[in-house]
Amino acid sequence: MIGSSVAFRTRSWVVLGLGFLTLGSPAALAADCPGHPDALGTSRTLVVDPHEHPRIGTMQYRETLPLKDHEVVLTFDDGPLPKYSNQVLQILADECVKATFFIIGGQAKANPEGVRKLVTAGHTVGTHSMTHPLTFDRMPIEKANAEINGGIEWTSAAMTDPSALAPFFRIPGLMRAEGVENLLISRGIQVWSADFPADDWRHVSPDRVYQLAIQRLEAKGKGILLLHDIQARTVAALPKIIRDLKARGYRIVHVVPATADRPATPTAPVEWLLHPPSETTPIARWPAVPNFVYTQTQTLPAPDLADLNAQPAHQPLLPRRTMAQANVAAILPAPGRDLFAIPEGSLEVLLSTTLSRRAATRLAMAAETTRAPKGKAAKPQARHTSHATPATPKHVAQPNSATPRPTRPSKRYPTAA
Ligand SMILES: [Zn+2]
Repeated sequence: MIGSSVAFRTRSWVVLGLGFLTLGSPAALAADCPGHPDALGTSRTLVVDPHEHPRIGTMQYRETLPLKDHEVVLTFDDGPLPKYSNQVLQILADECVKATFFIIGGQAKANPEGVRKLVTAGHTVGTHSMTHPLTFDRMPIEKANAEINGGIEWTSAAMTDPSALAPFFRIPGLMRAEGVENLLISRGIQVWSADFPADDWRHVSPDRVYQLAIQRLEAKGKGILLLHDIQARTVAALPKIIRDLKARGYRIVHVVPATADRPATPTAPVEWLLHPPSETTPIARWPAVPNFVYTQTQTLPAPDLADLNAQPAHQPLLPRRTMAQANVAAILPAPGRDLFAIPEGSLEVLLSTTLSRRAATRLAMAAETTRAPKGKAAKPQARHTSHATPATPKHVAQPNSATPRPTRPSKRYPTAA
């Protein structure tokens, strides 16, 4: 079903490609990339207002970024980890490509210079929690809030100018919950899912990462690609991905948040749908909101903001560091060794195919029946207490031994076991 429309779009692109390349105001096309005349470049900058479109990414939400056909947004999660993040930065610099990075607070704390390098290079920097727990779908809202704040605090603290931090957040493992989303949205923070992953956190070859990235992009024609800048396989696959994007006529879009001095790019609401209706796009092909995303919310009832004493109108996005916040590091253990190894069978993995989406639904339903039988929020489990245990799998990212890095908890997402 998707394939036929892809074929149509691809043919259309071949016909119209040259015309599209002349549109818009290119931010950094190849000619603007000194020393790299064949670079992919960044075709345009898209300014978004989180208040207007608070949840994006068709892996989980109805809306996604208002991209045109063959436009791609690159995102990298879980860094910065110098050994790999620096290589990713160099690859992007060689292609004059701007991306969005979702930083883990613990990583920023261990490697603040890595955050500054991202900002200096002109990339967009959002956050991805303090310790990357894969339990945002069922942890108490207070704990989620502390995780969110910890990530923001340590990432902004690493910046020379904290206002450079974008109000963009990606939930670890994409373990969404309505209460968490409402909390983020009330603070003006945009919740970023993705349109397709490349499974670069799994034990697959760099070539497989490249294949998945291109195959899934081709299936949708445009969108947000989810990658990780802490994996050797991603570093190995990225040059080939970028070269192939160029060969296939894709263009890179750099996304930045709206500010008082930088108004949002004008868009129509329909542009925020992956495939807006047109004369050639039947209504039946509108992307459906996957049902599974709601099955997770029953264990964590969406709280009324009034119950949280939330002050959305005045609450600062980037809170100043207080004594209580300074204690976050003590309360929340630093990331552990297998923090970034998202387990096989997790929702993030299962989401990647239609077939697996059904499996994800069954998994979520099964999880519902085995936990919180009374519909009450599941009690948080002691998941960050141990460092490497005998059962801990080999770490997928092996940083330079000379580089200080945080430790990580060894527990895994229970429903994936
Ligand atoms: Zn992550």
